[in-house]
This record gives sequence, C-alpha cells and structure tokens, in this order.
Amino acid sequence: GIKCGIVGLPNVGKSTLFNALTKAGIDAENFPFCTIEPNAGVVPIPDPRQRRIAEIIKPQREIATTMEFVDIAGLVAGASKGEGLGNQFLANIRETDAIAHVVRCFNDDNVIHVANQVDPKADIEVINTELALADLESCEKQLQKVTRTAKGGDKEAVAMKALLENKLLPQLNEAQPVRALELDDNERALVKTLHLLTTKPTMYIANVDEDGFEGNAHLDTVREIAETEGAVVVAICNKLESEIVELDDEERLEFLNDLGMEEPGLDRVIRAGYQLLNLQTYFTAGEKEVRAWTVKVGATAPEAAGVIHTDFQKGFIRAEVVSYDDFIAHNGEQGAKDAGRWRLEGKDYIVQDGDIIHFRFNV
Ligand code: GDP
Repeated sequence: GIKCGIVGLPNVGKSTLFNALTKAGIDAENFPFCTIEPNAGVVPIPDPRQRRIAEIIKPQREIATTMEFVDIAGLVAGASKGEGLGNQFLANIRETDAIAHVVRCFNDDNVIHVANQVDPKADIEVINTELALADLESCEKQLQKVTRTAKGGDKEAVAMKALLENKLLPQLNEAQPVRALELDDNERALVKTLHLLTTKPTMYIANVDEDGFEGNAHLDTVREIAETEGAVVVAICNKLESEIVELDDEERLEFLNDLGMEEPGLDRVIRAGYQLLNLQTYFTAGEKEVRAWTVKVGATAPEAAGVIHTDFQKGFIRAEVVSYDDFIAHNGEQGAKDAGRWRLEGKDYIVQDGDIIHFRFNV
C-alpha cells in the first residue's frame, strides 16, 4: 500500500487532521487484507468515476483504492540528534512514500504555539533542518565508504563521491532538501540508492482559519517556500474538517454548500498525495464487484495486473481494455463492444488513467 506520513511541530493541527482522516476512513473489518496500525488511518481515494461505472453495472459491491496516512507526532528540534524519541520518528518517516507536512497558518490565542508566535517560515525550517541533518549524517557515512572504494577506481564510487561532495553535502549543510537540487538522470539514480528523507515527495498542508483561505500572509509564505523546493501546497481548515466528518451524508452536502465548497478539504489532501506520487487509477468491473486499483503513471498492462496478484503478472496473456469515457458513452461493456471501442492490448500497453480492464492470464 501507499503510505503518507503526517509530520509537523506540536500544536499545528496534526491530530485534528489525522482524526478527521481516520473518521472519514474505512473500517478495518471491511478491509481484511489491510493491517491498520493504531497510528495509521486508511482512507479511500475519492473518485466519482467508480460510482458512475457501478451505476451502469450494478455490482454486488464497490471497493475503492486506498492510501494510508500515518501520524508521526513528536518531530521537534533536536530529533536528528536522537533527543527524546527523535530517532524513532525519523525511522518512521523513512518508511513512508510521501510526507504531508502540516504548517500552522491560523491565529488563535487560545492555542499555544511552541515558539510563541505563528511563523510558518520558522516552523518549516525547524522540521526541514531535522530532516536535512538526518540526511547529512547518512551522506557523511556514505562519503567515508565511497572514498575508500573510489581510490580503487570504481566508477560508480567516483561518481557518488563527486555527487556527495559537490551537491548533496553542500545542500544539506545549508539545511536545504535534496529534492530542491537540479540533478541529471545519472545523479538521480545514485541519489535513489541513498534513501534520503529530503528526497521524499512532500506536500505542505497549510492549516488555515475558516476565513483564512484568501489574503492570508502565512499561507502566501508557505506557497513561496514550496515553490522553491518543488513541493505542493494544500490549504485546509482542519478544525472545519473535523466538524464535517461528524455529519451524515445529507447534512454534509448542505454544510459544504453553505460554505461554497464542492467537496471536503480532506479529499483534496488525499488526492494531492496521490498526484504527488504520480499515481493513477484503473478499474476492474464485473457483476460481483467494481473495484479501483492504484498504479504508477506509465505502468504497463502486466505491471497493472501485478497490483492485483503477482500470478496475474507472471501469467499475463492479454488485457481487454476500454477507456472510462467510452465505457460511459456507450453505457457499459456490451455497448462499447458494439461500438468497436473494446480493445485487446498486449504486454507493452501503457495503462491510462480510468481504464477499465479485464486481464487474461495463465495460471
Ligand atoms: P498537533 O499537536 O499538531 O497534533 O495539534 P492538534 O491537532 O492537537 O491541535 C492543537 C490545537 O489547535 C487544538 O486545540 C485544536 O483544536 C486547535 N486547532 C487545530 N486546527 C485548528 C484550526 O484550523 N483553527 C483553529 N483555530 N484551531 C485549530
């Protein structure tokens, strides 16, 4: 599964966000194939296309594809030096695919700020510095290692040494994330082997007041910082979200309407995580179930089959594919077939977002 870690200073609204995500999430008992840990919430990826496919097929059940959010509380200044439980937090972050960094952009005298004032730039720096320091340590260790092998003339070690000395270490010494560096393909491949924290795709979740979505200098600051490091920003009012999840479906629609919102902000957070990781959805659709699956953009048909089961990938023969638009336009499988929009694709087919696929395979 895809895992997104929620980080941020104390009192910025992480738990409020996490609780809202968990309440909006799925019941563990309905998903026997996921193990859900206490500090994790599994949420469905909101996708209205699934509903429309199901309206045509009327299956016995619908299953959404999911993303896991993990609450990684307690990252504070000094974490990289192992202060408190610092190292444990860094280890938790290492296991995630993406980072959601919550930043306080709301003023509320009743909520104490750890540094006594709302200052997104300083807050972001504290967290980013800890992550950079952890990476600095990894990179320094790596430098010692490759310096030895580079002496023997090992080509890759020479390249790694140069990359560390000329780019990674200077960047991290400035407490800047490695993801902000411009790297060529070779360098990118080398960096990947280091499993750094500051290369993880990151979104800033700017936690604003109900009326803080526009004309909010704090939010502007977060956007400026994100732009310099290739990160994404989602503005959301976590407090409002925690109220929205308590409502039933009808009340929720009414409430969102009154606010002039089309969907809960949580949906934007979930979707941003999905896009951040360059993921897309395809569907399997039959009378028993209509189900969404997650694949990387650019995945081939056998790779997509492998998401369902490794045997599907190994024994892949062909994929029967219809695009979402054709499926809807022709009112389902038979209509799409009659219109000649039902395709047989081979192992080189690149799966497109929204494709509805039947796999044929040998077992
Ligand atoms: P954490 O320490 O980062 O997990 O922060 P919490 O989620 O526990 O929030 C800290 C305090 O801020 C709580 O009293 C929340 O009710 C409050 N809070 C969270 N989000 C908002 C918000 O969007 N606006 C306001 N005014 N208060 C918020």
